[in-house]
Amino acid sequence: MNLVGVDVGATKIAAGVVSPEGKVLARVRRQTARTPEKLLSGIVRAVSEVRDGFEVGGGCVAVPGLLLSQESIVVYSPNLHAIEGIRLKDELEPEIKLPLTIENDNSAAAWGEFRFGAGKGTNHLVFVGLGTGIGGGIISHGQLLRGAQGAGGELGHVTIQATGPRCACGNRGCLEAFASGTAIGRLAREVAGERPSSALGRLAAEREVLGEDVARLAHEDDEGAVSVLREVGRWLGIGLAGFVNVFNPEVVVVGGGAMGGGELMLECAREEIHVRARPPGRDLVEVKEATRGPDSGVIGAAARAKEHSGKYLL
Ligand SMILES: [Zn+2]
Repeated sequence: MNLVGVDVGATKIAAGVVSPEGKVLARVRRQTARTPEKLLSGIVRAVSEVRDGFEVGGGCVAVPGLLLSQESIVVYSPNLHAIEGIRLKDELEPEIKLPLTIENDNSAAAWGEFRFGAGKGTNHLVFVGLGTGIGGGIISHGQLLRGAQGAGGELGHVTIQATGPRCACGNRGCLEAFASGTAIGRLAREVAGERPSSALGRLAAEREVLGEDVARLAHEDDEGAVSVLREVGRWLGIGLAGFVNVFNPEVVVVGGGAMGGGELMLECAREEIHVRARPPGRDLVEVKEATRGPDSGVIGAAARAKEHSGKYLL
């Protein structure tokens, strides 16, 4: 049976009809509205458009922020306040007229990679999504690990340096403050100041340097951009080494829109894991780039609907 997956982001809503094999059969994208009423009606409309002409058995809406899974309420969403405080399942299910599951977006992306992507065939996986911030999802014994309230898996807000830069969450020195897209931009501006003759330095003299500029210049072998991604990769590895010690995963999958640095960042991360994580976990774990790209949220959400409906289990 096909299922509907919806990935609600701060700027866009992506909805897809997904086959039992993880293939996206239809896609719809809409802008994310900034008021609660319009946000909800936008989700309902995206589902109604995308499922038109398909037989579907259920759906899952993946949302950004800290989620109380029992109540399906997002209590805090720094980039999408409009979604906070709403009983999402109660509001959306009667309108969408499908059995509905609500899930955290990074948990859904983790599930998408676990079922149909870089973690296929494993039972123990840690997913880290690098975007404006850093989100996480943990699969242990083939189950999504949520914690007591459903708000677990916030891997971006683990402190890795007590006196580090201020994080968007208010704490200092979170992994997110060192290895997110925002952190890449901040470090790039610092390195541009130190190396004004590098391509990165010359670009910074003309306009604001963004995360994607750094990835592009690093692929062109600019030493300034390469040094930024190596530094970010090392900080990422410091965070991942802790996750390897705690969860003993078979695979760590790194995805998200700020993963343009790809293998260059992951190489440095692997070196840190080797130095800092303990055997035997560090010798087992593979660190891989996500393979389902921007679809992993939609595919993962659909697969979560499958999990919750039970009868559609693969
Ligand atoms: Zn934080």
